[in-house]
Amino acid sequence: MRNVVIIGSGCAGLTAAIYTARANLSPLLIRGHEAGGQLSLTTLVENYPGFPKGVQGPELIEMMQKQAAEFGTEFQEGNVTRVDLTQRPFIVEIGSETVETRTLIIASGASARMLGLESERKLLGHGVSTCATCDGFFFRGKPIVVVGGGDTAAEEALFLTRFASEVSLIHRRDQLRASKILQDRMRRNDKIKFIWNSAVTDVLDADQGYVTGIKLRNVQTDEERLHPTEGVFIGIGHSPNTGLFRDQLEMDELGYLKTHRGSRTSVAGVFAAGDVQDRVYRQAITAAGSGCMAAIDAERFLEAGE
Ligand code: NAP
Repeated sequence: MRNVVIIGSGCAGLTAAIYTARANLSPLLIRGHEAGGQLSLTTLVENYPGFPKGVQGPELIEMMQKQAAEFGTEFQEGNVTRVDLTQRPFIVEIGSETVETRTLIIASGASARMLGLESERKLLGHGVSTCATCDGFFFRGKPIVVVGGGDTAAEEALFLTRFASEVSLIHRRDQLRASKILQDRMRRNDKIKFIWNSAVTDVLDADQGYVTGIKLRNVQTDEERLHPTEGVFIGIGHSPNTGLFRDQLEMDELGYLKTHRGSRTSVAGVFAAGDVQDRVYRQAITAAGSGCMAAIDAERFLEAGE
């Protein structure tokens, strides 16, 4: 039986691993299908304290991983397929394998949200992408679009100007949500054009199996038009990965895990950290901080023999 199982290998899960491993609790960390979390899909991280010149997201994750391993964290590849939090020890299943644990730290993060169009789903990986870092290279010299008005969309748009001939940022309103510094950078970049008050209603051409354009509807005039493009990057935010815990843990109306008194969830002995429980801050540093909180909460729970 395990003292601590950690679900998720982003900076929340890895920080929880560093702390619980250092507390001699021999944690098992299950890496999941988007191993390394969102940081591993990003480029330069400029706001993580301690790196005045910035640090590459994947590099930061790799360093955290090494640090967690150094103190004795055991890593397991694979996805958790089921958990049972109604009995003690808790049951965590990874495919056909079953692990029993006294405490569970959930740091399963959030995944990119999609527009919900059938054509978008069909063309995902064939011109539609949610990750500029992963796929930007394929659009060298081509016109592309980025959908969204927050920091994710702004970062993706800026990054993609390295490859694309033109990047059109499509936003459903006429005001961006992105931070001022990113807005300024975008406005200064000649390759970036803005298409305001517009919703993507279709991605063409699912029949051909690659992207040739998008249909846009002006939300003020209802006018529809075709915008030719070869790539569509969706940057409209993320949804928490909490499907496994439905009916077992309390969640808010958007599916984020509810926590109280630090990282405690609605089941004693189960703790949550990072984006899976944070719909407000969602930063690398806050995820790391909450991973530390979850580790300390789990450690105290075990010590108290609750
Ligand atoms: P976000 O701030 O929630 O922004 C999502 C954007 O997508 C909004 O502009 C939203 O439009 C738009 N949107 C949402 N659903 C849509 C739909 N169905 N169709 C069209 N547009 C849609 O998400 P985010 O940009 O991923 O940022 C999340 C958090 O991470 C934020 O706290 C952000 O500061 C942080 N973050 C920080 C950095 C950084 O510091 N460098 C980088 C990335 C993310 P509306 O504006 O109309 O709602």
